[in-house]
Amino acid sequence: MALIVQKFGGSSVADAESIKRVAARIVETRQAGNEVVVVVSAMGDTTDELIDLADAVSTVPAPREMDMLLTAGERISMALVAMAIRSLGHDARSFTGSQAGMITDAKHGSARIVDVTPGRIRSALDEGAIAIVAGFQGFNRSTGDITTLGRGGSDTSAVALASALDAEVCEIFTDVDGIFTADPRVVKKAHKVDRITSEEMLELAANGAKVLYIRAVEFARRHGVTMHVRSSFNHNEGTIVYNPKEGEEAVEEPIITGVAGDLSQAKVTVVGIPDVVGKAAEIFTIIAEAGINLDMIVQNVPAADTGLSDISFTVAKTDGQAAIDALNAAQAKIGFDKVIYDDEIGKLSVVGAGMRTNAGVSAQLFTALSTAGINIEMISTSEIRISVVTSDTDLNNAMQVVHTAFGLDSNVEAQVHGGTGR
Ligand code: ADP
Ligand code: ASP
Ligand code: MG
Repeated sequence: MALIVQKFGGSSVADAESIKRVAARIVETRQAGNEVVVVVSAMGDTTDELIDLADAVSTVPAPREMDMLLTAGERISMALVAMAIRSLGHDARSFTGSQAGMITDAKHGSARIVDVTPGRIRSALDEGAIAIVAGFQGFNRSTGDITTLGRGGSDTSAVALASALDAEVCEIFTDVDGIFTADPRVVKKAHKVDRITSEEMLELAANGAKVLYIRAVEFARRHGVTMHVRSSFNHNEGTIVYNPKEGEEAVEEPIITGVAGDLSQAKVTVVGIPDVVGKAAEIFTIIAEAGINLDMIVQNVPAADTGLSDISFTVAKTDGQAAIDALNAAQAKIGFDKVIYDDEIGKLSVVGAGMRTNAGVSAQLFTALSTAGINIEMISTSEIRISVVTSDTDLNNAMQVVHTAFGLDSNVEAQVHGGTGR
């Protein structure tokens, strides 16, 4: 008997009808002779709505209370899915994250899973039941408090359970048919890929493709879990996210596997920095001490007449104010002129393992953007990715022209089956 973990995202359990449809799908998998562990997200846009409510009653909601609030979303859907399965005549039991043994560190809002002790899940399966687990949540042993794993974190719950229970596959059911060459809501000509390496998926997820949460892909990569991303609205084969075996990557691959866009970043420019040794170190130590993660960094050549240079870097918009405050507090000590903040930027990334063995990808990317009249503000590269910063209003157009330029366009329009894209 195989054990299969099935995760259903918010758009797949958005209302009573959807929950009944999902329940039937789960029962189908059980009847095919598998043990089934289900991980559910909160219904529809519940998590966003709860965040809006929190913001309406408090300017800075306490992180512990925020987690108490948000985990309620997944508790609703887990119980409803269990009820719907029971009314189809199958035994089903729902479990919160802590009941399922999802042990995390204590960092509210973005806790990391440190251990999974799924004893109660195993017993439920042994008794012939289908286990339904609330995604996105865990429990910290030392504080005794409930935690959440970060937005999109139900994916991580599913992968962690799949690994702990030694599942054959971790199926991620969502509102599109799989992983596409770009977000099908933005690029209508995007096409579904049948297989993608976890390395490429990691780059796409890290650069804005929210179809999978980055930590889930990291976890799957580290623990050798195979993911199958597919639609809960049809029975089509989706996309397999896999870890290639030694030598497997030598197979000829497309140069570009996908294009991702990210509107969640802002650009900080520190202007008029004295061109002496150690200034970059001072600036980035301040940013690091404020607990802020950086993405791209660009330093301009100092102007010959003044000997002053500028450094720009990008941070998450949610860290923008903290970065400005930290820098301003150190202005006199470091001796720069001023800080400029721009949150109207978009980041476009092209990802592909084939880039390793192909020259000229940057040239092709920059040519496509310049032909479309799109200005590039910053550039960064990794072994299998090139990212550029444009203005936020140019991002969607940039994704479309780049998708076309790399020959990724499909001749049929991509379908999105549900969800609001929020
Ligand atoms: P769920 O509620 O099932 O977790 P999400 O909204 O988190 O679903 O993720 C699915 C969405 O991810 C899709 O509706 C799509 O708009 C978006 N998306 C972004 N990039 C991609 C991509 N490369 N392939 C498929 N979907 C993508
Ligand atoms: N409900 C949570 C969110 O919206 C977790 C998830 O859906 O994966 O982020
Ligand atoms: Mg998701």
